[in-house]
Amino acid sequence: MFDRRAARAKAQSTPPGSFSSQTSGGLGWGVGLSGGASSGTVGGMQDFQLYQQILGIPEPWRVKQVTLNREARAVEVEVECTETVGGCPTCQRRMHRHDWERRRWRHLDSCQFQTILAADVPRVACAEHGTQTVAVPWAEK
Ligand SMILES: [Zn+2]
Repeated sequence: MFDRRAARAKAQSTPPGSFSSQTSGGLGWGVGLSGGASSGTVGGMQDFQLYQQILGIPEPWRVKQVTLNREARAVEVEVECTETVGGCPTCQRRMHRHDWERRRWRHLDSCQFQTILAADVPRVACAEHGTQTVAVPWAEK
């Protein structure tokens, strides 16, 4: 890291008015590398990450799978929770996952396709408030 005292000591050791005379040979090297190497795929972003951003799904949730059902005109987005700890929706206390509950939500449609969010939502067993599913960030309260 940058050491303030060392820098100051160094600056003081240089007598005022003295210049170092290092002429830089400013030649344009490095220009014109071997051309024609710009082909290939752009980015490399996965579709799942794209969906994650489009649907606004925050951590610790992540898009696990996206299935297109042409006949039903629906896109089903499977989302999973990557944390094994969840908060009780009543007291917000965080506790270990008890079990799961399979749930589905209708998200905003993309074009003429229905967008369905599906997830195994963790349930926590709160000593005070009983077993409840944790709050998911995309569902209204
Ligand atoms: Zn609770």
